[in-house]
Amino acid sequence: MDATRPMTRRDVARGIAASAVAALPCPSFAQGAARIVVIGGGFGGASCARALRKLDPKLQVSLIEPNQTFTACPFSNEVIVGMRELPAQQFNYDKIAAAGVTVIPQAAAKVDPEKRIVTLADGNSLVYERLVLSPGIDLRFDALPGYDEAASAKMPHAWKAGEQTLMLRRQLEAMEDGGTVVIAVPAAPLRCPPAPYERASLIAHYLKTRKPRSKVLILDAKDGFSQQRLFEAAWKELYPGMIERIALSQGGRVTSVDPATSTIITDFGNYVANVASVIPPQKAGRIAELAGAADNTGWCPIDPTNFASKLVPNIHVIGDACIAGQIPKAASAASAQGKACAAGIVAMISGKAPETPRLSGACYNTVAPGYAFSLSGVYQPKDGQFVEAEGATSPVNAPRETRQREAESAENWFKTITVETFG
Ligand code: FAD
Repeated sequence: MDATRPMTRRDVARGIAASAVAALPCPSFAQGAARIVVIGGGFGGASCARALRKLDPKLQVSLIEPNQTFTACPFSNEVIVGMRELPAQQFNYDKIAAAGVTVIPQAAAKVDPEKRIVTLADGNSLVYERLVLSPGIDLRFDALPGYDEAASAKMPHAWKAGEQTLMLRRQLEAMEDGGTVVIAVPAAPLRCPPAPYERASLIAHYLKTRKPRSKVLILDAKDGFSQQRLFEAAWKELYPGMIERIALSQGGRVTSVDPATSTIITDFGNYVANVASVIPPQKAGRIAELAGAADNTGWCPIDPTNFASKLVPNIHVIGDACIAGQIPKAASAASAQGKACAAGIVAMISGKAPETPRLSGACYNTVAPGYAFSLSGVYQPKDGQFVEAEGATSPVNAPRETRQREAESAENWFKTITVETFG
């Protein structure tokens, strides 16, 4: 078969069966092209799969991802407030398949690290020489009393973009003027640490223009947060009196919720929301736990030089799921990690020492149309963990033209990263 043509479902099924049968008794990888399996076709996994094929077109790379369409979280806060539509967030895997990656439209159900086999939801299995896990996050529905999956249909987290994003949008649209929108923010670590505050800002923008007697209340399990001075300065300038934040030390940590009455409970008081976006604590996607790669924090410890799991041999973990020191859990980080991990794997396969990764990433926060600021960093391994080697943040007292330019840069960043990953 021509390795560069996209696989059909039938090819995929045949390929899976063949790999499983060929390898079951005793996986031997001494001959033939190495088989690398990547679980999760988001920013980390898709970038890694593409980079592997680019670095070594002889590699057999499979990408396991159950969704035929990926829905990106960056810019999804804009969808919530009607500044953008959901299809602008959606991407398919055609170009990745055309790059010679075997895209398998299934969920991975099990990993056997001893036999080096991944079992898929349909019961088929794949053998690997190296396995890359990039399953993103799972929401911890056991961590906040009252907040389970059913509750998330009433108090959307919208922390995985898609139906949850649209649900929150519909609730905002249905809310009467004068209402209170409550956003509950968990303690670190969480996916995209500044995104709850971007959400609060954009919701305030929506309310200011459509329902000006309404308010946003942030109940926060943290005292400080990323780019706090910039956010607070923007709130004062753009939304005076509209956004209130109760920090951890002021009693802001949410201890339980009651979805039936839309009540959010803290140690210091109860708050009844007209619309509630409850972002619960998070952990690495469940398959990481099933593979044995997650520790008791729920996240995956790695060697930062090549993203190898510290707990399971022949497995690498990238993206939100891994413990990456000072690197924030962001799409730009996941993508950079995917590429660095691919380079590390290719080096290991060819018996060379991996180069020390030097990862850079930028994160933009939009607080109103045409008004954004950013944070960027360069990260390197030090003492077994990633540390920030260089960092830059937008100035607090910048003119509006700077914010406008950053809003344009944000749009360009999103276009570039999604084209690089999926286009
Ligand atoms: P994901 O991109 O979530 O991909 C994980 C993939 O794994 C999914 O496609 C999932 O279907 C798949 N998967 C899970 N389990 C399995 C399984 N068992 N088998 C097969 N596949 C599986 N980051 C930025 O850099 N900039 C931003 O402006 C930004 N804004 C954000 C705004 C919001 C509201 C949120 C919530 C996040 C934002 N982020 C932003 C963060 C960014 O979305 C994540 O950091 C990024 O998506 C992480 O990439 P990942 O590959 O680890 O996980």
